[in-house]
Amino acid sequence: MTCGIVYAPSYLNHEQSPSHPERRERLSYTLDQLVEEGIFDLPQITLLTPKPATRDDVLLVHTPEYLQFLEKTSITGGIIDADTYVPKDLIHDALLAAGGAITGADAVLNQVVKNCFVLARPPGHHAGRSQGAGFCYLNNVAIMVRHLQRRGLRRIMILDWDAHHGNGTEEIFYDDPSVLFCSVHQYPFYPGSGRFEDIGVGDGKGYNINLPIPAGSSDKVYQYLLEEIILPLADEYMPDAIAISAGQDNHFTDPLTGLALTAHGYAGLMQEICILADSICYGRIIAVLEGGYSVEGGLPYTNLGLIAAMAGLDISNIREPEIYQDILEKVISEDALPQVIKMVSELKKKLSDHWYFIRRYDFR
Ligand SMILES: [Zn+2]
Repeated sequence: MTCGIVYAPSYLNHEQSPSHPERRERLSYTLDQLVEEGIFDLPQITLLTPKPATRDDVLLVHTPEYLQFLEKTSITGGIIDADTYVPKDLIHDALLAAGGAITGADAVLNQVVKNCFVLARPPGHHAGRSQGAGFCYLNNVAIMVRHLQRRGLRRIMILDWDAHHGNGTEEIFYDDPSVLFCSVHQYPFYPGSGRFEDIGVGDGKGYNINLPIPAGSSDKVYQYLLEEIILPLADEYMPDAIAISAGQDNHFTDPLTGLALTAHGYAGLMQEICILADSICYGRIIAVLEGGYSVEGGLPYTNLGLIAAMAGLDISNIREPEIYQDILEKVISEDALPQVIKMVSELKKKLSDHWYFIRRYDFR
């Protein structure tokens, strides 16, 4: 089976303003890169056309009042916050992004493709039940997860590796053990949430895992977190599918953030998650684009690397052009890994009652 790519030219429609970081060139440059590399000609790739989400799909996650607000404001234009305007006709673009995630999930469940990367915008992970924020209107991943559960899957793991904490997704599933939410994000940073101490409430306690990391965190930090927390967590939870909030703003050239992941680092992470997914959930991974603002520098190469890994292609040559290497040396911090090791040790104490893979080494 193949890797699906959900994409339609309509994903270039949405624009808050030509100078806004979340602009259409984010995707058009990626598409140029994919075409140049011949990705769409490969037998391992299937291009899928998104269908818009319905009102019922949206109401799996969002309140009727918030949906009405978006519908009404899409007629006149309006504002949610200083970073998040509502352009006229926004609702059509937002429904197509959420619907694209559902299209990808259905293709995976129906075994049309093995896994899927949804190249949609606008992004979604800052949108909570009743409000948008941070360039996000509808929570595409959350809607897709609830759709998977509506189709009969019981447990879903969401890995949110966007540089910003996925506060909207956290809010939606905070008391719900049927969704394991794990977010790796720069901290302290926008939106201010994402402390490792926040592990969920009620039945959901232990199923909200925040991995806050300092600016300058490199491939080594992500590899450490993958081996120490993310892979054993997934292995123990045994999800029926893995959803990835795939924000590529961790790349060292990203203008909005301070992390130092490389294109090869991204591809390597995805490759290991694919191997794990093969062993626990029939390889079912649905990755949905979130942030990533290095329009020319990092984003096309990271997206290419992720797709190559998902399609089982050779990732050894995935890297950004040499001209960017000087930037990497300036951004990377050797102090980051020791800080993260300390944070993980504290996190394990908080989680040891909930997870056997931690308890068996007895950290108390
Ligand atoms: Zn982000």
